[in-house]
Amino acid sequence: MIIVFLGPPGAGKGTQAKLLSQRMGFLHLSTGDLLREAVKNQTPLGKKAKEYMDRGELVPDELIVQLIEETMPKDGNVILDGFPRTVNQALALEEMLRVKGEKISKVLFFDVPDEVIIDRLSGRRVCSKCGAVYHVKYNPPKVEGVCDLCGGSLVQRDDDKEEVVRKRLEVYRKQTQPLIEFYQERGIIYKLDAGKGVEELFEEVKGLVRDG
Ligand code: ADP
Ligand code: ADP
Repeated sequence: MIIVFLGPPGAGKGTQAKLLSQRMGFLHLSTGDLLREAVKNQTPLGKKAKEYMDRGELVPDELIVQLIEETMPKDGNVILDGFPRTVNQALALEEMLRVKGEKISKVLFFDVPDEVIIDRLSGRRVCSKCGAVYHVKYNPPKVEGVCDLCGGSLVQRDDDKEEVVRKRLEVYRKQTQPLIEFYQERGIIYKLDAGKGVEELFEEVKGLVRDG
């Protein structure tokens, strides 16, 4: 089963994807996480991607499609979190799956009002060591500034700072939002009211995923 998580930055896609992976054994494939890892390790991909990410722009499609081709497992249940983000990426994914005789099962669209996006992004903190995600108000660590899982220090992502957030939202509207219509035409998109709390939202996500 292949499930796509679509929605603006900060909508809570990564949080739900991690829960599905922990509780239902899905493989969580996040292009954002993979790119941040590549930047940290200064790989050729990381070196090319960094400037785009720092500016809040999308990394070029061909780099992203190659990354997905390299990391997509042969089978099993997968959540694609943050991919595709452009119509070109969506077309490339369709072709990639067609060749293998596969299809996307469902696209879950995380719908949230702008003020929720800003609230979630401005309070997001991530572990500088293991990448675990927290929120100062909605999902605080046990000890302020310290990761519950590995003891690493919690930081704000550079691209969660106000100026870059504005750019990322603009990029989302221009380049990613058209995918809603793209998947509506294919009849596979399901809208979620993602303004709810984590557990309440998870119940809804789980219900949709279980129905196949
Ligand atoms: P995305 O992957 O869509 O960018 P994240 O899952 O990283 O979003 O969530 C953004 C921020 O909001 C994080 O700080 C996270 O802890 C918090 N968060 C995620 N889901 C919820 C929710 N349902 N209610 C409140 N806060 C949430
Ligand atoms: P968020 O969910 O908060 O928007 P991500 O972690 O998904 O953040 O992405 C962070 C950055 O990584 C994006 O701003 C973009 O530069 C890059 N990125 C991630 N996924 C893609 C993608 N599918 N296509 C192009 N760029 C991407």
